[in-house]
Amino acid sequence: MVFDVQKETLPRDKLEALQLKRLKYLLQKIYHNVPFYKQKFKELGLGPENLKSLSDLRQMPFTEKQDLRNNYPFGMFAVPRESVVRVHASSGTTGKATVVGYTQRDVETWAGLMARSFEAAGATRTDIIHNSYGYGLFTGGLGAHYGAEALGATILPVSGGATKRQVMLMRDFGSTVLCCTPSYSLHLYETALASGISISDLKLRVGIFGAEPWTEEMRQDIQNKLELKALDIYGLSEIMGPGVGMECIAAQDGLHIWEDHFLPEIIDPDSGEPLPVGEKGELVITTLTKEAQPLLRYRTRDITRINPVPCRCGRTHYRIERITGRSDDMLIIRGVNVFPSQIESILLETEGLSPHYQLVIDREGGMDTLEVRVEVHENMFSDEIRHLQRLEKKISGHIKEFLGVTAKTTMVEPQGIARSEGKAQRIIDRRKK
Ligand SMILES: [Zn+2]
Repeated sequence: MVFDVQKETLPRDKLEALQLKRLKYLLQKIYHNVPFYKQKFKELGLGPENLKSLSDLRQMPFTEKQDLRNNYPFGMFAVPRESVVRVHASSGTTGKATVVGYTQRDVETWAGLMARSFEAAGATRTDIIHNSYGYGLFTGGLGAHYGAEALGATILPVSGGATKRQVMLMRDFGSTVLCCTPSYSLHLYETALASGISISDLKLRVGIFGAEPWTEEMRQDIQNKLELKALDIYGLSEIMGPGVGMECIAAQDGLHIWEDHFLPEIIDPDSGEPLPVGEKGELVITTLTKEAQPLLRYRTRDITRINPVPCRCGRTHYRIERITGRSDDMLIIRGVNVFPSQIESILLETEGLSPHYQLVIDREGGMDTLEVRVEVHENMFSDEIRHLQRLEKKISGHIKEFLGVTAKTTMVEPQGIARSEGKAQRIIDRRKK
């Protein structure tokens, strides 16, 4: 089903006309209300009047995460602070947090887009939605929460943590939709089995997974174990939160970006030049309707490509391919670019391994080293040591062959890698210390 048939199936020409109208208004608004943008435009010798068509967007300035930090906390607001009804912020593990403000209308738009996303996932008002995304300054919990209410479904605001209790609630309440990170869904699965709850005791049919990059192999693994349809959701707090894009259950093949509210571009991350539709690069998003904190050409650092092929679900909004990594996450090991998702694919294609892994990068004698620590299944671990050694060698061989880097693979006992209740900590880079 489609939540907002009129908007989600607009013919491309009408959709683009709407985007242009909204974009022109946005430029006027940020130019006159956000000193940061006025300054940026002046530096480039441009003004809002220079945008006459969507293709003129390529001349306009970018916004970087650092710009948000430099204007901490409220310097990017385009409305008086009193008009802001809610503030979210990123964790800010390094340096200052990234702050995002919302007007009453922004909060309502967000709920509507999350409801749209739920419906694209096949959820309806009859569903019971178990929401394990964290509630708080992080956008995940509250974003999904208000979207589920706008849909009219029953929301369980469980948040993160107390995993054993979560599994019991899921069984007792008969939850049908699960919202969490992909890695946490596997933790829930293991906890269920360990608590004597079998998957047939649960009624889950759809999982809406996001907030960390994952692979197609991981999807298959989750679908087999939890016996549900696993769908990908996209969002980032700077732009809004979850619900910027959503994979539809009809095609299960890429995420529709809600283009009446967000204008996507793909650029070359090094040169900043826009790439033709279909090429892989960095996703850049312009918010078209946000009032409190509109962003022009925000560099997400997420690597993907746009798929313009019409979708079988009937929605006209373009899809992006699943995010294979962030350009921030890209590891450079002895000069070779490696995304953790590439290693994940290799691990999950190998028989006998679990999807729990960690990449440890270090430096020895001026040379980068990569260690891939991966858990083996229970039955494998009891095998002879030489079987494990053979497996380690095989994985290192595949990594060398496909990615061109030398890695040491270490098998870890089952449960040997710490489980996370939010985003999995997959990379330990000791070179930075
Ligand atoms: Zn679709």
